[in-house]
Amino acid sequence: MKKNFCQKNIPFRAFALLLGLTLAAPPALGQGRDFADCFNRLRGQAIQRGISAATFDAHAARLEPDLSVLELLDAQPEFKTPIWDYLAALVDDERVSDGRAMLEQWRDVLLRVEEQFGVDPTTVAAVWGVESNFGRSLGQRPLLASLGTLSCMGRRQDYFRGEFLSALKIIDEGHIAPERLNGSWAGAFGQTQFMPSTFLRLAVDFDGDGRRDLVDSVPDSLASTAHFLRRGGWRSGEPWGFEVSLPSGFDASVAGRRNKQPMSAWVARGVKRADGEPLPAGGSNWALLLPAGENGPAFLVGKNFDVIYGYNAAESYALAIAHLSDRLRGGEVFRTPWPTDDPGISRAERRELQRLLIARGHDIGEADGMVGTKTRRAIAQEQQSLGYKPDGRAGLRILEALR
Ligand code: CA
Repeated sequence: MKKNFCQKNIPFRAFALLLGLTLAAPPALGQGRDFADCFNRLRGQAIQRGISAATFDAHAARLEPDLSVLELLDAQPEFKTPIWDYLAALVDDERVSDGRAMLEQWRDVLLRVEEQFGVDPTTVAAVWGVESNFGRSLGQRPLLASLGTLSCMGRRQDYFRGEFLSALKIIDEGHIAPERLNGSWAGAFGQTQFMPSTFLRLAVDFDGDGRRDLVDSVPDSLASTAHFLRRGGWRSGEPWGFEVSLPSGFDASVAGRRNKQPMSAWVARGVKRADGEPLPAGGSNWALLLPAGENGPAFLVGKNFDVIYGYNAAESYALAIAHLSDRLRGGEVFRTPWPTDDPGISRAERRELQRLLIARGHDIGEADGMVGTKTRRAIAQEQQSLGYKPDGRAGLRILEALR
């Protein structure tokens, strides 16, 4: 974990700062010293970037390393989450009805956003809903402490240093107050879950107060999301894609988001829309997505799916956003079920499962619908006594068994 960044000459002007840091943050003698040296150099880089020394000294100089982010940086997922679990929680009835209420509440802003950026209200609202649950889940970790730690310790320090300096720039320019700048351990923050460098490139002041505020301004957040999609190449009026059905004996080896083919080629292979409507004629950039293999739902996805993918670089998340946008427009759930006998469950069902676990004496904290380590451990215990595979997964089978 310890990286040696020691330079031979510490600039004299930062000597007091270094002392301040070492006094404020001695996690271990050598480590604290390295961290201080690293911050010392960050101060010089910040000033080179036009960030005022006063901003650095006020908000960054006395940061203490947050070692918990290093554990998260190196954490291996306990098990691979099946895509039907992601979809079940990210696109449940609750999020659809919340999304419709938000579309109503922010209608005028969303229409002006569409006019300026060419991205429809339901897509913008779907990104908002998946990224931050419509502004309700912004992340709680102070951004400067997380990014400062990752700038000086652990893997990918160069990358995180850029993000740390970008975060300081946001503060220096007065867009967001430092105490409001909280987010995920890796630095995504605000209602759009932008990284700080993405903020500097793409965030928009849409409420006209002169600040780009993705934490406390919904108009700024919605416009910034649309701006991101626009700059990613969003095609106004073109669907992200369709659920499709495949003819029997279909050669599934042609699937994959990068294997783009003309729509006519898919039609020639016998691919049809699952709802029976005709596929649009023309277009050359369509790919077949089989997120759970050839026995699960199939999708033809176009350019706009790739643009959404650019938001989070995971097909499961892109599909969640795409599907939520359809549901917000009045679309149905997928016609083909996921290939599992133990489907994923909604957030309401997760809360119910947690209440059942609590009633059985498991100490898992509140029934908040978030399936963390304690909940998974309790599920595994119950699975064990039922003779199921004790994988700790929150699915329909264990829910029904405990009911
Ligand atoms: Ca603003």
